[in-house]
Amino acid sequence: MSKLDFVIEELVTANRVLANEGIVDSFGHVSARHPDNPNHYLLSRARAPERIEGGDIVEYTLEVEPIDKTAPAPYLERFIHGAIYEARPDVHAVVHNHSPSVIPFGVTSKKLKPFLHMCAHIGHEVPTWDSRDKFGDTPLLVSDMAMGRDLARLLGSRPTTLMRGHGATVVGRSVRHAVFIAIYLEVGAKLQMQAMPLGEIKFLSAGEIDQIVGRLNDYTLNRAWENWARRAGREMQEG
Ligand SMILES: [Zn+2]
Repeated sequence: MSKLDFVIEELVTANRVLANEGIVDSFGHVSARHPDNPNHYLLSRARAPERIEGGDIVEYTLEVEPIDKTAPAPYLERFIHGAIYEARPDVHAVVHNHSPSVIPFGVTSKKLKPFLHMCAHIGHEVPTWDSRDKFGDTPLLVSDMAMGRDLARLLGSRPTTLMRGHGATVVGRSVRHAVFIAIYLEVGAKLQMQAMPLGEIKFLSAGEIDQIVGRLNDYTLNRAWENWARRAGREMQEG
């Protein structure tokens, strides 16, 4: 199997996993940088994640032009992916989702921060990108490269950012890594809302976060991936 075929199959599995775990519904998407050309990336045509198959995956330039000019209709928010790959050479996968538990943190001053060890991978503190700051009243969707680049600027070197009244964007060094963080972002947000009424939360320290992140290896990612993939009716690929 070629590297490209491998990544396409990973993306199909990622879409099914994210849907099955409640991170995306009929909306939201996941992409991967092209394994043979860092200036291109792979993303499904506009379709609900649970329905995506290998033939739906389209190759784009970082300026989000499809390589195949006859490619079917794209996601409107594909600019999120192109702008982040342009800004972050270390990123090989991007998840954009509207999972419900992250939304309250994007519209209040409460910061989303990790206190469960598995959630350390969301970063020290999750910032919120507010489209209104620079672009005024919009439908809140990232609909051009200027918006995508502004989002990428706020993301900086972080793994996650919230988007006010909209959702979140998560990046990773692989498809499995980005899906892992996206799932634990939702878990962390839900837990933080459960913990807040009980009293003051003892969050992970910066040092604890760094140590946990430093220990994340393929064994952990693959253990989770196999479980999530099979739960979504997909087999884990070797590699
Ligand atoms: Zn969106």
